[in-house]
Amino acid sequence: MKIFNPATGDVFREIQEDDEGGISKKYQLLREGQKGWRTRSLDERIAAVGRFGELLEKERGELEKTLSLEVGKPLRESGNEIAGAVGRIRFFLQNSKKHLSPQPVNEVPGPLTTREIIDFEPLGVIGNISAWNYPYLIAMNVLAPALIAGNAVLYKPSEFSTLTGLHIQRLLFKAGVPEDAFQAVIGEGAAGRALLKLPLDGYFFTGSYATGKAIAVALAGRLVPVTLELGGKDPLYVMEDVDVAKAAANAVEGAFYNAGQSCCAVERIYVHEKIYEPFVKAFVGEVKKLKMGDPFDPQTTLGPVARHAHLQHLVRQVKDAVDRRAKLLTGGKRVAGRGHFFEPTVLAGVDHTMSVMKEESFGPVIGIQKVKDDEEALKLMADTEYGLTAAVFSKSEERAKNILEKLDVGTGYWNCCDRVSPWLPWSGRKNSGLGTTLSYLGIHAFVKPKGYHLRS
Ligand code: NAD
Repeated sequence: MKIFNPATGDVFREIQEDDEGGISKKYQLLREGQKGWRTRSLDERIAAVGRFGELLEKERGELEKTLSLEVGKPLRESGNEIAGAVGRIRFFLQNSKKHLSPQPVNEVPGPLTTREIIDFEPLGVIGNISAWNYPYLIAMNVLAPALIAGNAVLYKPSEFSTLTGLHIQRLLFKAGVPEDAFQAVIGEGAAGRALLKLPLDGYFFTGSYATGKAIAVALAGRLVPVTLELGGKDPLYVMEDVDVAKAAANAVEGAFYNAGQSCCAVERIYVHEKIYEPFVKAFVGEVKKLKMGDPFDPQTTLGPVARHAHLQHLVRQVKDAVDRRAKLLTGGKRVAGRGHFFEPTVLAGVDHTMSVMKEESFGPVIGIQKVKDDEEALKLMADTEYGLTAAVFSKSEERAKNILEKLDVGTGYWNCCDRVSPWLPWSGRKNSGLGTTLSYLGIHAFVKPKGYHLRS
């Protein structure tokens, strides 16, 4: 398998993929190993994941270079991502014991007393099929709580972040997670499909809606938990009472961070007609300040798009909008020459007949639409197949909440966007997914509850 540098388009490594036989052997190793891993004390498992977090911090310099090299994100963003992953681990270290320890919940008196207790058992051997856009962060949603709970994990990193996946494996082993409790599987879609054929005890997938749906179909009839963290078409509504300059700067950050390749990136913007013109002007001004270029240059704020094939999608989406009379305010095309660069692109005068307002862009392209009031904004924000996040910028919490509580999304933002906290549940609705990771609910996602009635 070839490993590309998206900033140059060059292959810089070749790596051996796992075949089905090899993947099956890894599974068998884990099936045996999980029996031992689950009998280690919770404290021991928490300590191992804690040491992994320390190693991420210690080796951050090398890890961030690998990440920028294979996915193309600016070095500073790679560093931020690793720091964020350490923060997520800290959450699990602090909260797992409380939520995984047996919970006495009731006592029924009588000639004999019955104690009622909820206990938690690991799912067993689980599969984690992952994406490349935030490989450390999205892996931590699964690997940290799964291992702490006593599961063994068969982990398939994306083929676009394979080297990072191998770093994760190396550091987990160094931290004391046994080789028969964790194995990385190297490969493309075929390796992911091989995981679906194994009798795993749960599947945790992060990636596109198309793949998530194919996985759900392939696993239909298998009575094991399946969690799907999929794409989004996340709206932002900017009300007329905001500080326009600040709102525009925040919106640009939400739309263009990681070259727009965040599942919860701002993907479409609605602006109240009273500030539409000044907002669009300020927004384009901010976009023009972005410095596109070499991810290793400290001045760079916009890297290349990670997947070469994705450039065509962005070209098509811009053409579709322009053909339907959208106004191209800046950008709009692939940068000629080496690497997978796409100009940061702003389209105004857009509407919901256009792909840019309906289909996930997952790149540095954004549409801005004028609305006359909150009612129209709400109607347009809700007009989507996705349901990951939604944001409102306004001075009024009440007006913002009035919109956010009516939307079928897993996360609502007031005066912020493109943000994930380990303390809060991360879950998509509709085509954005099924199930929950992070928060205490995301600790319970990796265990099976057992009720005990103990009479004495
Ligand atoms: P993708 O669906 O192309 O690939 C994801 C993973 O699935 C990869 O490891 C790939 O090898 C594997 N795969 C491909 N075909 C498969 C199949 N038929 N069976 C099993 N596995 C298969 O997605 P991507 O390009 O890696 O990631 C981008 C997408 O992920 C975007 O849509 C983004 O919004 C979404 N995403 C969502 C979240 C979230 O938390 N909701 C987080 C990050 C990314």
